[in-house]
Amino acid sequence: LSPVPSDIEISRAQSPKAVDVLAKEIGLLTDEIEIYGQTKAKVRLSLLERLKDQPDGKYVLVAGITPTPLGEGKSTVTIGLVQALTAHLNINSFACLRQPSQGPTFGVKGGAAGGGYAQVIPMEEFNLHLTGDIHAITAANNLLAAAIDARILHENTQSDKSLYNRLVPVVNGMRGFSAIQLARLRRLGINKTDPETLTEKEIGKFVRLDIDPSTITWQRVVDTNDRFLRKITVGQANTEKGFVRQAQFDIAVASEIMAILALTTSLQDMKERLGKMVVANDHKGEPVTAEDLGTPVFVHAGPFANIAHGNSSVLADKIALKLVGEKGFVVTEAGFGADIGMEKFFNIKCRASGLVPSVVVLVATVRALKMHGGGPNVTAGAPLKKEYTEENLQLVADGCCNLQKQIQITQLFGVPVVVALNVFKTDSPAEVDLVCKIAKESGAFDAVPCNHWSAGGRGAVKLAQAVEKAANQKNSFKYLYSLELPIVEKIRIIAQKVYGAQDIELSPVAQSQVDRYTRQGFGNLPICMAKTHLSLSHQPERKGVPTGFILPITEVRASIGAGFIYPLVGTMSTMPGLPTRPCFYDIDLDPITEQVKGLF
Ligand code: ADP
Repeated sequence: LSPVPSDIEISRAQSPKAVDVLAKEIGLLTDEIEIYGQTKAKVRLSLLERLKDQPDGKYVLVAGITPTPLGEGKSTVTIGLVQALTAHLNINSFACLRQPSQGPTFGVKGGAAGGGYAQVIPMEEFNLHLTGDIHAITAANNLLAAAIDARILHENTQSDKSLYNRLVPVVNGMRGFSAIQLARLRRLGINKTDPETLTEKEIGKFVRLDIDPSTITWQRVVDTNDRFLRKITVGQANTEKGFVRQAQFDIAVASEIMAILALTTSLQDMKERLGKMVVANDHKGEPVTAEDLGTPVFVHAGPFANIAHGNSSVLADKIALKLVGEKGFVVTEAGFGADIGMEKFFNIKCRASGLVPSVVVLVATVRALKMHGGGPNVTAGAPLKKEYTEENLQLVADGCCNLQKQIQITQLFGVPVVVALNVFKTDSPAEVDLVCKIAKESGAFDAVPCNHWSAGGRGAVKLAQAVEKAANQKNSFKYLYSLELPIVEKIRIIAQKVYGAQDIELSPVAQSQVDRYTRQGFGNLPICMAKTHLSLSHQPERKGVPTGFILPITEVRASIGAGFIYPLVGTMSTMPGLPTRPCFYDIDLDPITEQVKGLF
């Protein structure tokens, strides 16, 4: 339709196919799915075993240029490309996306279902709760946080003997150690399996984790942008007297458990990673892990890209690559610009999965390029200024430096790149041609305008054809850095080669954290930078291709279970705040139609 109706109207005008029918059509067996309502289902991992001899399909990553706060359409391109491949080129294909966090849905950016005629439906269910996994992650994360504080309290208020009697369970009158406890005994150098034989001294050593409260790195999480939880005080009740401490909340999608869910390759691997998560140090400076406290387990994924690794789940990709068959395509998305989500996709996710992508699709918009060329600020909720709604070839040309830089970043990894120019109705033909011309001159394999938002799959046929061609190109995929390099060196390589920084500067706190992780044997992990997505630098207001800046590393955290070191750049916070006028002002439940209004 023209004009294109709102995202929610398009979503509601469709009646999605029943999920059991869809599952059958894509080759899933009845016992391989678990149905949630009419339109959602989870897929069982047994599928991977059944299809283990099936060759993988082609693997395409959708990334983008440095975006405006509104998003430039990576999700819509992902869906539009798959619609074009499937419906117009007759190629089996799947999209793999992340589950949206309620932070942006109720905050600034809105949901993450894509938009126009290229979106995931039904949009309300996708944007709100889906199958409840984010809530399950929140619960598991907070259980662990509660267990840490409770353990400190109990260790400080009970005798060795009383603690021991509670921690070693009595089963049918026989005392025994759990597997986790046996592992802990071994680490302490106590090679005994029969509790009766432990000496008083060994009991004393075994029962106390001796956590140093000032070193706790495990934070409570909630899936809401709540700036007032960035610093909190816990333990104020009389029953916890003497155990007051400063703590903080993070957004749930920044939880290491979410990162693990997205990076894991099997249930066993997930259990092991969850157990390895380091939550604090003991008073001797040794790491205390989740396994020392007992492991919370549940089971899918949506980590943010600026403060987490920003990619959908390895397992979803692996399942989809088998299902599409050797000639098929799987299109997955990496959050924000190629400097952020794509860099992490290659250096973290591909390392975890062993998968090699065939093509990168780099999404650009005329509006974001104009912003990089010196156009006025783009603010969510405010109407776009005339520079963005009227033709201005000079601004576009000046802003293409950001596109060129993001193409160069992609080339560092040796994978062919196709630029998808996501066309808005205000873009002029001359502006569209100019971007495609510059993109091709800058080394893109191809650059094509896409109209999937207004025309669905039909509008992305040229993109699908270009992607198909690029997938048959020579691919010399490589990681950006070797894991053996020191942590600081790895951070410097990302800062200089990807962001274009002159150098990095570590705060004294960050340096001591790096020293500690290195001493503890965690120096060989990849790096997950937490940096603003609104600039290649650490300063969101610096557009285009900033140069000559020194990247400040204020803090360095570690997600040992997920398997990465996690530097915080500049003023980056792991708990977003709500703006003055958040999206939820417009979200309401209509009592007559029983529908949610105001989602976009
Ligand atoms: P990203 O995944 O890059 O963050 P999205 O695909 O979520 O971006 O798109 C962001 C918003 O912009 C959505 O609300 C979407 O409907 C809208 N949008 C995307 N492409 C277009 C287009 N070509 N014309 C108009 N609106 C668009």
